[in-house]
Amino acid sequence: MKKGTMLIHNGHETEKATGALGVPVIQSSTFQQTDVFTPQEYDYARSGNPTRKALEEIAASLEGGAAGFAFGSGIAAIASTLGIFRRGDHIIAAEDIYGGSYRILSTFYERWGLETTWVDATDTGRVRKALRPETKALFLETPSNPLLAITDLRACAAVAREAGLLTIVDNTFMTPYLQRPLALGADIAVHSATKFLGGHSDVLSGLAVSRDPEVGKRIYAVQNCFGAVPGPWDVWLVIRGIKTLKARLEMQQETAGKLALWLSEHKNVEEVFYPGLLSHKGRDIHLAQADGPGAVLSFKTRTVSQAHNFLSAVTLAAAAVSLGGVETIASYPARMSHASMPPEERARRGITDTLVRISVGLEDAEDLIADFDAALG
Ligand SMILES: *Cc1c(COP(=O)(O)O)cnc(C)c1O
Repeated sequence: MKKGTMLIHNGHETEKATGALGVPVIQSSTFQQTDVFTPQEYDYARSGNPTRKALEEIAASLEGGAAGFAFGSGIAAIASTLGIFRRGDHIIAAEDIYGGSYRILSTFYERWGLETTWVDATDTGRVRKALRPETKALFLETPSNPLLAITDLRACAAVAREAGLLTIVDNTFMTPYLQRPLALGADIAVHSATKFLGGHSDVLSGLAVSRDPEVGKRIYAVQNCFGAVPGPWDVWLVIRGIKTLKARLEMQQETAGKLALWLSEHKNVEEVFYPGLLSHKGRDIHLAQADGPGAVLSFKTRTVSQAHNFLSAVTLAAAAVSLGGVETIASYPARMSHASMPPEERARRGITDTLVRISVGLEDAEDLIADFDAALG
């Protein structure tokens, strides 16, 4: 089956008992045991719930893994996945991973004795140089946020495999519809399902999918220990969102391409970052590992006031954090996602006060361009 078909025919398209075209919401915290001496599949909803199980199986099949796990948020998925490591282990992480992932590793897990070295993973040589005997995992995200930097997943996963590490990839920006890290050699794909998978800015959820069933068992143990699981209604919204992922993402991506080109010719725009542009660094690597450039782009205006004016004047894009919804969202990394980063560090990474990130929604491209044109002055 092709990817679009798999989004619909995912093993849970018809409910066996009634023929309903959808997954039932099983709103129960506990399950009656017919024989207390014989374990049943479900006993308590933190340990397992049939609605959640459906999403976990759908996620595993879309990512091509052995086991999937659903969580109450993307960060819960990431924190729980990192919970499989132990004190004294060492992680190599890409320096421009999602801010919340940076925070978990650099504050929370650091305190528990899990050490992280931050590297520019777009340079595979630096990943290799950071290896230590106690290194257990490589944590990557590509394209990165907010500058859409591209990491070569095959090359990094090969370095990790050779050294016996697990490669974890945050695949939120691409979704399994556009990029499948496990097929490129990674071991675990993690997601904020809050973004494109849910797709409607109305639910918080996360996923982790493991290639190896044994690693899956370790993630399950943390899921059950931490209990950072989603409720069945939230799971149901994600399952519904996934059904329309192809239609949304294809359309959003097409509009993103038009916007990126148009922005790159605007007099008040200094630079546009979008893997679909010929000028984008790492574009060839990206297109060799993903089926499209996605629907997130960013750009720098020429002056700070142009960025401020744009954000206050734009009407068809909500000035907000988050991405991947049907509505276009404009965010300002310097004050939103990367506000907690010291200004020198932001500057070093190119996250200037002129940088604006756009998550392209389902509005008509012509309307967005007209609106952006007015807002850019
Ligand atoms: C939003 C996001 C997360 C965190 O997910 P939440 O659902 O907000 O907890 C992790 N990684 C990336 C790339 C994200 O965009």
